[in-house]
Amino acid sequence: MSTSDSFRLDGRSVAVTGGARGIGYAIARASANAGAQVALLDLEQASLDAAAEKLREEVPGSRIETQVCDVSSYESVEGAARQLEERFGATDVLVNNAGIAHNVAAEEMAVAEWDRMLQINLSGVFYCSQVFGEKMIEANRGSIVNIASMSGLIVNRPQPQVAYNVSKAGVIMLTKSLAAEWAPHGVRVVAVAPGYIQTSLIEGFLGTDVLRDYWVGGTPLGRMGTPEEVANVVVFLASDAASFVTGATLVADGGYTLW
Ligand code: NAP
Repeated sequence: MSTSDSFRLDGRSVAVTGGARGIGYAIARASANAGAQVALLDLEQASLDAAAEKLREEVPGSRIETQVCDVSSYESVEGAARQLEERFGATDVLVNNAGIAHNVAAEEMAVAEWDRMLQINLSGVFYCSQVFGEKMIEANRGSIVNIASMSGLIVNRPQPQVAYNVSKAGVIMLTKSLAAEWAPHGVRVVAVAPGYIQTSLIEGFLGTDVLRDYWVGGTPLGRMGTPEEVANVVVFLASDAASFVTGATLVADGGYTLW
């Protein structure tokens, strides 16, 4: 296989959670551009249908499936994986991208809010990894790419986001643990830790001093990243070009964590 071929995903099936928009959608598009057939998993069929239609237009000839799935429910993940396999065949690459963010001071955070963050951002990654990973183990091949965050490595400022930070630190350790356990089964597990990326997750901060002074000002490259810049890293990690990479978290943050 040539070097450039090893970066492609031809013939692979890629499932992306939270794939209807934002970074997840960009990952789906980059995967389709790299030759994969792609399944978008998200909360609502309407947004999935709209995303799939857009994706088929943007990547003509691509095979795109959709599947409603709430990653915070084990039952939902199991059902989604079963239905997807019937319609789409085995999943070769799982991208655990679905996630939420809330900024709440630790002393004011409701227990339910803490639980919900951990349930979606951390337990959701475990549920999907276990359910899809079981089939990968049977097949003795596959890769799982988890979307963590630089917030799993450092405490961002000035916004208080204890639950988010903890959930993403958990994703980074979950990645290492699964990578060690599943390496003998031919399954690689890796993560990406993005910095500030222009999506709806940070829409509320556009035009604010926080964004200019802390987020962009704190980024050596002097700007936020784009969803495509995360997606390119995901495609690399999912592909055979990264065949000796497992357990690693690749930081894609414009240098934010350097300072
Ligand atoms: P986004 O634009 O809000 O998209 C997140 C997607 O996940 C949405 O389609 C959302 O559906 C879906 N989702 C939410 N809860 C879900 C659940 N329980 N089950 C299935 N799908 C669910 O966010 P994003 O910025 O693209 O973030 C994607 C990932 O990157 C997240 O894990 C986030 O933590 C991580 N990340 C983002 C940044 C950033 O600066 N944007 C930085 C570092 C890491 P609905 O639209 O229906 O809610």
